[in-house]
Amino acid sequence: MNITRRNFTYTVAGASALYPFNRIGIALARQDQERKLRYCIVGLGRIAMGHFMPACKMSQKSQVIAFVSGHRDKAEKMAAEYNVPAKNIYSYANYDEIASNKDIDAVYIALPNSMHAEYSIRAAKAGKHVLCEKPMATSLPDSQAIVDACKAAGKKLMIAYRCQYEPTNLRAIQMIHEGQLGTIQAIESANGFNERPGEWRLEKKLAGGGPLMDVGIYSLNACRYLTGENPVHVEGYCSVIDQDGRFKEVEENVSWNMTFPSGVVASCNTTYGADMPGFFRVHGSKGMIHMQPAFAYEGLHLKADIQGQPPIDEPNHQKDPYEFVLEADDFADCVFQNKEPKANGEEGLRDMQYMAQIYGSCGRTM
Ligand code: NAD
Repeated sequence: MNITRRNFTYTVAGASALYPFNRIGIALARQDQERKLRYCIVGLGRIAMGHFMPACKMSQKSQVIAFVSGHRDKAEKMAAEYNVPAKNIYSYANYDEIASNKDIDAVYIALPNSMHAEYSIRAAKAGKHVLCEKPMATSLPDSQAIVDACKAAGKKLMIAYRCQYEPTNLRAIQMIHEGQLGTIQAIESANGFNERPGEWRLEKKLAGGGPLMDVGIYSLNACRYLTGENPVHVEGYCSVIDQDGRFKEVEENVSWNMTFPSGVVASCNTTYGADMPGFFRVHGSKGMIHMQPAFAYEGLHLKADIQGQPPIDEPNHQKDPYEFVLEADDFADCVFQNKEPKANGEEGLRDMQYMAQIYGSCGRTM
């Protein structure tokens, strides 16, 4: 695997700050400002209806223009709320017809994990850009197939790692990369919750795995964006404690360690058996950062203790769904300005590879 230091953008001021425009650029930017990226929402579940779609409503750059749903009545209700014309409501059966719908620029895939690949690939083949929820798929071949399909179609692919666009996470990255913590030695992170019986997340066929693929992925991805490195060694341990029928197919707990090229060590935990607020702690030779919550929809809070400095205490007061606005709008910028998304397909694929290694070391498969 190609291990490289990764480039991160610390600014949250938007692409215009990064790409100073010449006159033609300014004219194009004005055009972009007048246009919104028009999303077809694929799967009307909790993340789509509760977060992403409300974010589009608030956004200057993103708009809900179409739906794909197995529940026509629900789609019609949402269509009324979002001014979506009846002709733009699709079922899973006639989904491919989005190809001839010029209203639709991009799809947002918010289906159970094992459906991401099929619906992302069909979207790319229909000539649409793809914003796909995490984890990008449930196998490495499926993940690669999404990347390949979007490349072949010449369409943008972004994986919905909203924390990579969130200001408090970006501030932590910035502090680390400016050397404010000295030499980074170790990272601890966790993220989990107590899953209810009956959820698709407990079915391997739909979820691909348990809490690692669902919420542990936030800790994994954070260790990578905080260090700016990719791990050289990954090893995990899985367990099932509660014999109440929930964990016949997926694991209940995963603990894993990672070593990075610089020597940074990371230890992470995830569970479906307990409420485990998402956090990370980064320990450096001159101080530490503690973020908790680190991965929630709102209320993110960064604290840092650095030698010779007053304590840093920076809560983010923005309310949900602001993280989704940043994510949807960044993708709009990528499409309108022909930029590669920071959280692109390769980024999603790497997490899939590390998760496969973690499962492998536990004697499990994805
Ligand atoms: P959900 O169960 O609320 O919604 C899933 C949607 O898929 C529903 O509309 C459901 O009707 C539809 N669906 C189609 N076929 C289905 C099938 N065979 N079984 C079950 N549902 C089916 O799920 P969710 O919590 O919205 O998660 C959807 C995706 O979003 C997942 O990949 C998840 O990992 C991701 N997610 C991301 C975040 C984030 O913060 N980025 C948060 C939660 C979920």
